[in-house]
Amino acid sequence: MFKGILIDKTEAGYSASFAELDDDRLPEGDVTVRVEYSTLNYKDGLAITGEMPVVRQFPMVPGIDLAGVVESSENPDFKPGDRVVLNGWGVGEVHWGGLAEKARLKGDWLIPLPEGLSSRQAMAVGTAGYTAMLCILALERHGVTPDDGDILVTGANGGVGSFAVSLLSKLGYRVVASTGRPQEADYLGSLGASDIIDRNELSEPGKPLQKERWAGAVDSVGSHTLANVCAGTRYGGTVAACGLAQGMDFPATVAPFILRGVTLAGIDSVMCPRPRRLEAWQRLVPLLDLEALDAIATEIGLEDAIDTAGQLLEGKVRGRVVVKVAG
Ligand code: NAP
Repeated sequence: MFKGILIDKTEAGYSASFAELDDDRLPEGDVTVRVEYSTLNYKDGLAITGEMPVVRQFPMVPGIDLAGVVESSENPDFKPGDRVVLNGWGVGEVHWGGLAEKARLKGDWLIPLPEGLSSRQAMAVGTAGYTAMLCILALERHGVTPDDGDILVTGANGGVGSFAVSLLSKLGYRVVASTGRPQEADYLGSLGASDIIDRNELSEPGKPLQKERWAGAVDSVGSHTLANVCAGTRYGGTVAACGLAQGMDFPATVAPFILRGVTLAGIDSVMCPRPRRLEAWQRLVPLLDLEALDAIATEIGLEDAIDTAGQLLEGKVRGRVVVKVAG
């Protein structure tokens, strides 16, 4: 038996509970992992509360990220005792995920725990940090350099946003942070933000082309914000779009793309091919300030995950939540 969060959808409705689960309920896979830490991402919040149809099979153990120790393996690449990390691949959506003491997974989805990080630190990074790095890799691939000008980060107090601010600043970029929580200015400054703007500046319908303000952007917000971010991007700049915290819609015009050569780069962390995942993790680990990582992360117990998921969606959580699953 092992403990975990279980989501179910029946005629009685949608439910999430802290449950005792039988090992024989674990899904198919060639590696069984004893989970040490997981995290709460925005997507986990949606899954646990049922606010969006993230979960596509029931019953489901949520948790799109996990770090732990291999307990048993039929995969030649992993042996008992190996420390591993998993991000995405539909885990926590269509395959039981990390918010439980045990997970059975496909070895192909696992990467070794990056050297120099503990399981807890890897989960403090989690999909949020790894996605922020994927966004930065996209800016780099499209030629954006620190000399080109400011980089805007939206949803700056969120998980992806906090990491984007910190990693970009470490790489020498001047970062403008957009947030609805100006009271967290000191926190954003400590992560490396040079300027802070109120997210209301970007969240309402705006002109198709606006003053050229930033050379690039990392957007985790979508909707009107993403449209305004593109409209305010300098000639030849790149916007990495990874999120939908304001909305899934994209009420924009093509003007920034066809008149200013702006590139809109889409970022997906879930099915991202393994070489790029490894590249993202390899690039981000040396940039991490482990003290700052501790400041970004709030630790909760597995039994607190359901309550905290609701608070996350209400925008009441700053930075990252790590979930201590087993010691
Ligand atoms: P998070 O920690 O909850 O952060 C989201 C942030 O967005 C909030 O902290 C808030 O920042 C801002 N925000 C929330 N509601 C908003 C609204 N109505 N209008 C404008 N801004 C709003 O979530 P996360 O884990 O960083 O994820 C952020 C987004 O990226 C989510 O949509 C998530 O699904 C997506 N995501 C996508 C991928 C991918 O593979 N593409 C991977 C990870 C995450 P402020 O308080 O600073 O305003």
